[in-house]
Amino acid sequence: MQFYARNTVMESRQWHALTRDAVLSELDSVMTGLSSVQVAARLRDYGANRLPEPPKRSLLRRFLLQFHNVLIHVLLGSALVTALLGHVVDTAVILGVVFINAAIGLVQEYRAERALAAISDLLAPYANVLRDGGRCSVRVEDLVPGDIVLLSAGDRVPADLRVLRSHGLGIQEAMLTGESLTVEKHTDPVFPAVAVAERSCMAFGGTLVVSGQGVGVVVATGTDTEMGRISHLLGNVTTLTTPLVRQMNVFARRLTVVILSLALVVLALGHFIWHYPFSDLFIAVVGLSVAAIPEGLPAVMTITLALGARAMARRNAVVRHLPAIETLSSVSVICTDKTGTLTRNEMVASELVTVDECLVISGEGYAPDGEIRSAELRLDPQTRPGLQELAQVAALCNDAALQNSEGSWRVEGDPMEGALLALAARLGVTRAKAQQQWIRTDVLPFEAEHRYMATLHHDHEGHARLFIKGAPERVLAMCRRVRTADGGEAYLDDNWWQARIEALAARGQRVLALASRMVPASQTVLARADVEGGIVLLGLVALMDPPRPEAVAAIAECQRAGIGVRMITGDHATTAAAIGRMLGLARTQRVITGAELDTMNDGELGRAVMETDIFARTSPEHKLRLVTALQAHGLTVAMTGDGVNDAPALKRADVGIAMGRKGSEAAREAADIVLADDNFASIVAAVREGRTVNDNITRVIGWTLPTSAGEAATIMAALLLGMVLPVTPVQILWVNLITAVTLGVALAFEPGERSAMQRPPRSPHAPLLGWFWLWHIVLVTLLFLAGVFGVYAWAIGQGHDIALARTMAMNTLIMMEIAHLFFIRSIHAPAFSIATLRGTRAVWSAIAIVVMAQCAMIWVPPLQAIFDTRAIPFFEGLLIPVVGVLLLLAVETERQLRRRMKKHWHGSIGHHASK
Ligand code: ATP
Repeated sequence: MQFYARNTVMESRQWHALTRDAVLSELDSVMTGLSSVQVAARLRDYGANRLPEPPKRSLLRRFLLQFHNVLIHVLLGSALVTALLGHVVDTAVILGVVFINAAIGLVQEYRAERALAAISDLLAPYANVLRDGGRCSVRVEDLVPGDIVLLSAGDRVPADLRVLRSHGLGIQEAMLTGESLTVEKHTDPVFPAVAVAERSCMAFGGTLVVSGQGVGVVVATGTDTEMGRISHLLGNVTTLTTPLVRQMNVFARRLTVVILSLALVVLALGHFIWHYPFSDLFIAVVGLSVAAIPEGLPAVMTITLALGARAMARRNAVVRHLPAIETLSSVSVICTDKTGTLTRNEMVASELVTVDECLVISGEGYAPDGEIRSAELRLDPQTRPGLQELAQVAALCNDAALQNSEGSWRVEGDPMEGALLALAARLGVTRAKAQQQWIRTDVLPFEAEHRYMATLHHDHEGHARLFIKGAPERVLAMCRRVRTADGGEAYLDDNWWQARIEALAARGQRVLALASRMVPASQTVLARADVEGGIVLLGLVALMDPPRPEAVAAIAECQRAGIGVRMITGDHATTAAAIGRMLGLARTQRVITGAELDTMNDGELGRAVMETDIFARTSPEHKLRLVTALQAHGLTVAMTGDGVNDAPALKRADVGIAMGRKGSEAAREAADIVLADDNFASIVAAVREGRTVNDNITRVIGWTLPTSAGEAATIMAALLLGMVLPVTPVQILWVNLITAVTLGVALAFEPGERSAMQRPPRSPHAPLLGWFWLWHIVLVTLLFLAGVFGVYAWAIGQGHDIALARTMAMNTLIMMEIAHLFFIRSIHAPAFSIATLRGTRAVWSAIAIVVMAQCAMIWVPPLQAIFDTRAIPFFEGLLIPVVGVLLLLAVETERQLRRRMKKHWHGSIGHHASK
């Protein structure tokens, strides 16, 4: 077989110089596509259609990279110094801390990456192909040479294709050729020697279809493509960082420098002024520095974000850019499409209006059988030539396909077109039969700004016809006459039709007008000018697309959460208003149309966006204006989009959200988030997760900083006051290590608080940690000092030796950290609620690990020797949790008092204001 001579055919790369037939025969393919058997064989021969990923860093390299950190350098330096001073135990502990830290860093990084890798799998692109004689959508990876690919505006070309059909197919090839103008593609061969940019009958993998439609046959996949040749490494690397994590990195680095400078000052003071023995002082200062530096914070924040991204993916919101998670928590307006997002996008043609009668259509989903009734009486559509013509338009001015799998009918392509195919079948016209009679010669594909689609067809007897379907006001404007039931023509009464459209739309139905026109058989090319006059209206089809029940609940949730919702739809104003009412969306009855928006200046638009919830008959440019107008009010805007022209609005929005199902690849690439199910409720779920992630990051920071400060202050206070250290530096190193990786990380797993969607969105300008947190750090530090020194002093007072007193002080410190964790868990609810105290699995596992580690440290003799600890007697042991509970009581009481004062304060201001 010619095809399998891979070396001669695939590497000749002269596809652009061959005729369409020659290309097909060389590739052993046909216009109706390959068979599954051929595809399987070729997939084995040619491999998957993907570019190799950049090589991953080796495990060892990644482990070593963990040492690339100021704190670790300081620790390694300290280990060297302690070794030189002959403190072998200290050196061993410090080195242990370093290695365990690096290992944990590696595990955390791996966990975050794994969570994100699972997500990027969900973003795998799909292509529409013809296989086994039918249309289907397959993963781009699974394309093989010879596959017939359907292209339409917004698609990324999935492999190198030889164009077999082009209807205004315009492709943006900048990423391959650097040429930013759109290139119009044709099907005629070009000279063998022309440059890539001039191969106008080729569509190259990775380039973007910006207009029209086309069909092509795959000639090269994976690394054999032009893109594969110029760049062998085009990985889709998701970076693990966000502005907040970067900010935290910078903060942590600066803090490290400040702390290390302070440590040097303390070292100098201690040595030269207070005359402490150098080796003891040195290890104390090392302990102090390690305790104070929040080294693990950026890593734990990254984990929190990655877990948030995973939780969102589970709720069908796939995050493409991690920073979007942070922005989601401050979203104050969601601008959403209607079709598919607020409604199900499962359409059924329910009514038909012709000039003679109003017909009711029944039938299940996309199944071809159903009844047509006129005034309650069953009607035989075959007896109405007008209806038969309408059915032909419905079947042929249509790019969707219906498939029957195991008794249920599914649509490939636009569900509305699927519903029209089902309608045609119910009227007695199947797609296959109609296609045999009328062959499509050209098409004007549907584009959001024109709102209609037209096709040109020829039959075998030398006739040519134009079929049109589109938004009713658009199609009505083209028509002067209407088709009557007997196949004749009558004058079109515009007012009568407008009233019918309004009546159908007022019930929330989407209305479509179908029309046709005879043209000379010599016409083979279709232009926009051909559809401007002389068209005969055949009738109106009303399609029901019910609102999603979950969208009603989600809109109500947005209202409670202080988030505005705007419906920005391409649909008719009356339909949009009716659906808006069903969803509980319309604050006012007002609907603004795209045409009205065009007449508004920026000031008027600024007012309109705040007062109106529904915008109808809009085009993608209007979306851009609306986002900009909302942002001018200081609002954080999330915006959905699906078409290629929605990309600018998606990029402009603070959170761009693309439809995963009906959206184009171009929209997906411009978006921050892709909705796997196109569902509005998933956007709201993502916002809820975003708020949870934000709360968790606040928790992680709010727990880590006071803890670090408290630990450091313990050593600092003892040094300053010239007291015996209540906890040894080695013990502090241990406490810091064990708690940071258990208790700190547990907060990343906190589920959302119920109140998350009952408060207004976070202001995007609000600092993550305000004055309250600074005060909280001071308060907790003081309480930690009181607890540690108090227990230590009490133990000494009871006549216990220093080692036991220190062991008790250290365990008190840990217990207070655990108590503080429970306080931090409930940012918004009281800490003494059952929900907070019940904890989560992550919290209890972390506590279990810490408690087991502490028990080992106290009771296992070799550890006792290393850390100089003693077994704590029973009664003394009881004191430790009591101190923990006291700390929790203290911080919670302070919080309640502060809240009351705040309320009182606001109340009295309000009282004065109202006076
Ligand atoms: P939304 O913007 O909420 O998703 P929509 O799907 O109605 O709503 P568009 O896709 O911009 O928005 O469609 C606008 C109008 O164009 C529709 O109301 C319909 O009248 C018409 N239309 C939509 N799809 C087609 C199509 N495939 N062929 C012909 N006309 C169409």
